[in-house]
This record gives sequence, C-alpha cells and structure tokens, in this order.
Amino acid sequence: MRHFRIIVLLLTASLLSGCSVLQGGKLLAPENFGLTPVAPRIYVETGADEAIRGKLREAMDKAEDAIRAAYGSVNSRPIVHACITEGCYEAFGGRGSVAKVYGDRILLSPRGLNWHFLAHEWSHAEMRSRQTLSAWWHLPEWFDEGVAVAVSEAPEHSESHWQFLVAANIPRPTREELHTFKSLRQWLDAVHRYGEDKNIERKAKGEPEISPVYATAGHELRPWLAKVGSHGLLTFIARLNGGEEFESAYQTGNIAVVRDAPQAALPLATRPSP
Ligand SMILES: [Zn+2]
Repeated sequence: MRHFRIIVLLLTASLLSGCSVLQGGKLLAPENFGLTPVAPRIYVETGADEAIRGKLREAMDKAEDAIRAAYGSVNSRPIVHACITEGCYEAFGGRGSVAKVYGDRILLSPRGLNWHFLAHEWSHAEMRSRQTLSAWWHLPEWFDEGVAVAVSEAPEHSESHWQFLVAANIPRPTREELHTFKSLRQWLDAVHRYGEDKNIERKAKGEPEISPVYATAGHELRPWLAKVGSHGLLTFIARLNGGEEFESAYQTGNIAVVRDAPQAALPLATRPSP
C-alpha cells in the first residue's frame, strides 16, 4: 500500500512538474535530505531557529482556517516542507517559484514561509482531493490558480497589486486570454511571457516585483467566489465530478455575478474572514 501511494505520488508529481520529479521525490523521505520535523505534518530545513518553527506552526493553523472558509471543511492533510535557504529549495526541485505542491507534499521556499503561500498550495491539494481524476484532469489551470490566489490572500497576488499593474500600465493578460491558460504548460508559458519568473532578479535590482498572471487569475475568481460562496464552490466541483463541462458549470456561477454587478466588485475580504 505504501509503495502504491509512493508510485501514485511520483506519477502525480511527474505530471505536475516534469523534470523536477526526482528532486520532488526526496520529499518522501525529508529527514534523509536535511529537513527535521517541527510538528505533525511540518518539516523545516535543519538549522531553522525557534522563531521560524513557531511561525510555521501558526501559518499551518491560519492556512487551515482559510481552506475551511473557502471549501466549508478540510479534506486534505498535506505535509509541509519549509526551506530556509534557496539551495534547499532548488535541491527539492523548486526553481523560479515561491512554493509548489507535489501531490499532498507542499514545498515552501524561503520567500514563501507564511500562511499565504501555504494556503495557496494547500488549496491545490484540497481541490484535487475533492475531484475525480477525470474532473481534475479537465480543470483549467487558470481556475485552479485563481481559487488558490483568492483563498491565500497573498499581497503579491492581491486586488491592490492588480490595481498597481493597471495604474503602472504593466502588461497583463486580458480576461479572454486568461481563459486560454488551460494546461499547466500554457500557464507556465504565460508566467514566463509576462516576466513573472524574473522577480528574484527584479528584487536584486531594487525594482518592484510583479505578478500579472496570478493577479489576473485572482481578479477573475474573487468576485465569483464571493458570489457563490463555499456552497457554490462545492456544487461546482460536484457538477464537474458528475461529468459536466467546465464552461457550463463556471458560467452558471458567473451569470449570477454579472447580474449583480455591485457585489461582483467586492474584494475577497468581504467573504467570511478565514
Ligand atoms: Zn498555484
């Protein structure tokens, strides 16, 4: 059984991340690769001080609250692996991102050691845990990412960041373009095209970091989620699991958003607080 789960995890990881699968596979035995347990389901890079350990425990609780607020309950129990150096993050297959998830194994970079990025990756794991394999396979990447962005409330992907991009006239996908980012490959290509994978270099030069693709996904999904709530999200997932096409299930929620425009403009903060 254990071996079967490992094979499933590796297959899932390979679908998600291509060549970083071997490094990601190390998360199956974190203590062999320089991580130490902090609490049940939390590992941190050896050498982390008590302040970081405490911050991680708090982040886990807050992220779980955010998942419960969005999905109504918590199905998934991911295991979190936190790196305090970029070398550790790269050794586990994390390059050009802040955090990532392999199946139910979350990997945080030193730049993502907070509840926002933990909740973002947890949302991916939660979404997956609630879907049939077929429904998950057909779920557009932009939708999965948009929900994760909205649930996490990360300032880097927030509505105010989107407004900054608009004010600064920084290129970002249109709504129609966003909807074409269906596969992980299309999503990653867009992230690269809009320069969202160059933030480490931007920060080193003292320039503002930008997230045009993630921020646009959040901008699209926040009013939708605010309108349909956790009950609507679960109904939407159930419809996909029942074989309904994505566009049909999504538009049903979207029509209600458009019809009630003033509420559609409300930020996520108007949902029940996580
Ligand atoms: Zn994501």
